Amino acid sequence: MNPPKPIEFIDLKAQQKRIRSQLEERIKRVLDHGRYIMGPEVRELEEKLSDYVGVKHCITCASGTDALLMPLLAYGVGPGDAVFTSPFTFISTAEVIAILGATPVFVDIDPLTFNLDPVKLREVVETIANHNDLEPRGIIPVDLFGQPADYEEIETIAREFDLFVLQDAAQSFGAEYKNRKACSQGDVAATSFFPAKPFGCYGDGGAIFCDDDNLAERLRSIRVHGEGSHKYENVRLGLNGRFDTIQAAILLTKLEILEDEVNMRNEVARRYSGGLQGLVEVPAVKPDRTSVWAQYSVLSDNREEIMAALKTRQVPTAIYYPKPLHLQDAFRSLGYRPGDFPASEKTAERIFSLPMHPYLEAEVQEYIIAGIKDAVDSK
Ligand SMILES: *Cc1c(COP(=O)(O)O)cnc(C)c1O
Repeated sequence: MNPPKPIEFIDLKAQQKRIRSQLEERIKRVLDHGRYIMGPEVRELEEKLSDYVGVKHCITCASGTDALLMPLLAYGVGPGDAVFTSPFTFISTAEVIAILGATPVFVDIDPLTFNLDPVKLREVVETIANHNDLEPRGIIPVDLFGQPADYEEIETIAREFDLFVLQDAAQSFGAEYKNRKACSQGDVAATSFFPAKPFGCYGDGGAIFCDDDNLAERLRSIRVHGEGSHKYENVRLGLNGRFDTIQAAILLTKLEILEDEVNMRNEVARRYSGGLQGLVEVPAVKPDRTSVWAQYSVLSDNREEIMAALKTRQVPTAIYYPKPLHLQDAFRSLGYRPGDFPASEKTAERIFSLPMHPYLEAEVQEYIIAGIKDAVDSK
């Protein structure tokens, strides 16, 4: 069986085609002025993104990973500190904690949303707080697959135990939580502009959002080697964490169509969920928030058969994430074992993701759904 047209897992070409001439115009302006580092587009983008999100400060940076690392540097996180996060996420979320010598403390997920379970979070924070060896410092909730985590519950726990909340919004830029845009939750938020993310550029990039003037100033300093009032005065240690001007020009162009694309993504998700009812477990979005569907991920006990059947029909699929972080070699020294986080482990065994992007056509989705139906029926 052949698809009605070749199917991309994430089709960046369709988007580029739509805005190609505007992209070329914007890139040309950068080539003309030649300010490749911290050029005017970077400032313009930061202003537009902080307006869009509804927070005071946007600090663009070199990647989503740096966007997570820089707030931890600003908070002085280091050895002896505990930072709570999900084991069911991309490696960056926990890597930035460990690379500073602090201890990632994992908390299992809610199996319905794949986000941090606030009830379990409270239990784990209490346990660590009652021991003397680690100091609880912060929480990094992840907006997995584009759906914001349970910030109200998480922020209540954070206030009680005096913890910061760093929102990992790498996958959720454009989503909403209680009528506020993603990246405005917690004390500070990090997003990624990696090309495949819902709001991606054509290279690596990221941004940090916060309302706190003092924190924003420290982040801007950390972004450029801990600079002080001028370039060759260094008041702290930092990074080369700047975002390229050309990439800012690309995002300024893409920002024009972001809201339209978010609506299109939701239309694609609605069509999937309608057609897949009863065949696989479709993703749940809580009523007080929206998703931007960085991934459209479903659960099935017949994952291998369905993925194989789709492959013969030239439908690409992927597994996010096949192995939770507590079982990765990189975190072996933390001493976790299989069985420690049952919801994450069970999800990792059953989850897979279908092609998802704003330009996925109904006809192509019908072909994908028919392939899944055939695989399920022939079981
Ligand atoms: C992509 C991603 C990151 C890291 O972003 P990069 O730009 O690739 O460094 C962090 N957290 C999550 C949840 C991600 O999906």
